[in-house]
Amino acid sequence: AKAWVLKKHFEGFPQNSNFDLKKIELPNLKDGELLLESVFLSVDPYMRPYSQRDMKEGDIMIGTQVARIVESKNPAFTVGSFVVANRGWRTHFISDGKDLQLLPSSWPESLPRSLALGTVGMPGLTAYFGLLEVCKMKPGETVLVNAAAGAVGSVVGQLAKIGGCKVVGCAGSDDKVAYLKKLGFDEAFNYKTVTSLDEALRKASPDGYDCFFDNVGGEFASIAINQMKKYGRIAICGAISLYNDSVPQKGAYVQVPMIFKELQMEGFIVSRWNNRREEGVKTLLKWVVEGKLKYHEHVTKGFENMPMAFIGMLKGENLGKAIVRV
Ligand code: NDP
Repeated sequence: AKAWVLKKHFEGFPQNSNFDLKKIELPNLKDGELLLESVFLSVDPYMRPYSQRDMKEGDIMIGTQVARIVESKNPAFTVGSFVVANRGWRTHFISDGKDLQLLPSSWPESLPRSLALGTVGMPGLTAYFGLLEVCKMKPGETVLVNAAAGAVGSVVGQLAKIGGCKVVGCAGSDDKVAYLKKLGFDEAFNYKTVTSLDEALRKASPDGYDCFFDNVGGEFASIAINQMKKYGRIAICGAISLYNDSVPQKGAYVQVPMIFKELQMEGFIVSRWNNRREEGVKTLLKWVVEGKLKYHEHVTKGFENMPMAFIGMLKGENLGKAIVRV
């Protein structure tokens, strides 16, 4: 088996030299165990802050995969089945089955199984529960989402449309903006080329925003908060604009709009709704099958390219979910 380890903690933006590819000998299977082979691996923004805070140099990079069972000494799992696992950047691994989630048996032949790492997996569930439970969106409201052409953001915008809202999205290239329009976003703009973010947000929704699904944080959020409507709700999902800083940015102070507009702002982690995972996956899968929820994947080929795919995603090279196919 092969695995990518964190060779050296990041300083600023991750580099190829932060990672090392290692060979690992796997032992023979014991009764009750399975041997799995990663087919698709996910690269996600959280890996940047997580590896810095919670990993030691030499640890295998954290992450999830869709894997195929290649050998089984566990009667509950048959060879050839596919599962979602959370075993990091590895080509092969052994499991006792307890930490695996079988792909739903209703998984349609026509859909790539990698969707279980994106639109029908953790990022899709983040959009689903974040909008419903944290933003508490209601039909007729206006929803703002940033990093809107990414894995989470593209689902947020489409779910808000399904929920009867007006949706404004922003992303970092004109191609991404065109994609957002194709997905049905009411307004979309390139935050890198607007002369004033404040004006662009005002133009997109002169009455302001009821819900703000924030994937970016930092300066963007400080500007957007001033355009919330009274009683608006802000879901703090991610802060990708801050993840690569070695020196923390000094922020704006948000208390005044929070008070006078009586806003609610709540950070969340998708695992809060692990007990409702099945409901989320079923709903997202159904909407994908019905064509109501579109997806796009940015697939990098080759396990050896994991660091490149991860760094590319942090730079914004991905449209939709960034995936590595082994
Ligand atoms: P994406 O697929 O959206 O990929 C990351 C995108 O972030 C890039 O494509 C890039 O798009 C954008 N980006 C990078 N740097 C900046 C910057 N400085 N300013 C603005 N945008 C930037 O990733 P995900 O959909 O997987 O994740 C989106 C966010 O959601 C992340 O912050 C992540 O940490 C968070 N998240 C939180 C979860 C939770 O449970 N709370 C679960 C999953 C994700 P562009 O070209 O538009 O700049």
